[in-house]
Parts: sequence; structure tokens; C-alpha cells
Amino acid sequence: MKDEDEAFMGEALNLAQQAAQAGEVPVGALLVQEGRILGYGHNSPLSACDPSAHAEMQAIRMAARTLNNYRLPECTLYVTLEPCCMCAGVIQHARLKRVVYGAADPKTGACGSVVDLFSDPRLNHHTQILGGVCTEASAELLRSFFRARRS
Ligand SMILES: [Zn+2]
Repeated sequence: MKDEDEAFMGEALNLAQQAAQAGEVPVGALLVQEGRILGYGHNSPLSACDPSAHAEMQAIRMAARTLNNYRLPECTLYVTLEPCCMCAGVIQHARLKRVVYGAADPKTGACGSVVDLFSDPRLNHHTQILGGVCTEASAELLRSFFRARRS
């Protein structure tokens, strides 16, 4: 599982790099079901004029269209940055099995950094969360993006 997680996270990192090239905050995501990529995307709220155009949303929307189903059971979402509250909500509505993320997000992270929407027993669907996969590469993309923007 670990090698597979790192391989898919490598793909998500490539997508994050595409976001940076487009001037968007570099976050990439992949939606995988039984080893098959069903959806992918990168952060694009600026170019899409859409505050919901996070990488996770793009990957989940694409996968739902691919499967022609609003629920995505037995699926794993790979994302380079810890999901926010909005994405955590969609992850729960889509009934994802697992989320694997890279860097923690101390400002908006909803998997434990700011809040933990996946550990509240009142929310009835429980997705497994695994953080810390390719953390350093994910965080370095973000750091270099913001460094370049400041200078
Ligand atoms: Zn989000």
C-alpha cells in the first residue's frame, strides 16, 4: 500500500506543479478506485473564478461523472495538501473510503490541523485518513510558490 500511495501521490504532485505554472496555489489531487484513476485535477479558483475549484473538488467531480454516480465508494483520494472543511464535506458526501494527503495545512486543514471532521462520531460516514505521504515535496512546492510570489 505504501509504494502505491507514494506512486499516486507523485502523480498528484505533478498536477500541483501544473497549478503553479498556471499561477494557482500548487495543490493537486487524484481519485483512484482499485488502482484505476477516475478523476484528477489541480487547484484553479483564480482561473475558474470559482472559490470551490479546489484540487479535490475537480478530481471528485470528474470521477463522479466518469462513474455516473454521485457516490464514490471504494475510492481513495490523493491530495498534496490536507483538505479544507468544504472538501472534507464533499469527501463525506461522496462516501470516499480513504484520503491520503501530503502536507498538513495549519490554516484551513480539516483532518486534524485546525479541526478534525473525520473523528466526530456524530458525522455518520467515516473515511480513513492518512497524512504524511510525500509531505516534504508537497510542502516545498507551496513554499517555493509563495517565495516566488513575494519576490
Ligand atoms: Zn478544499
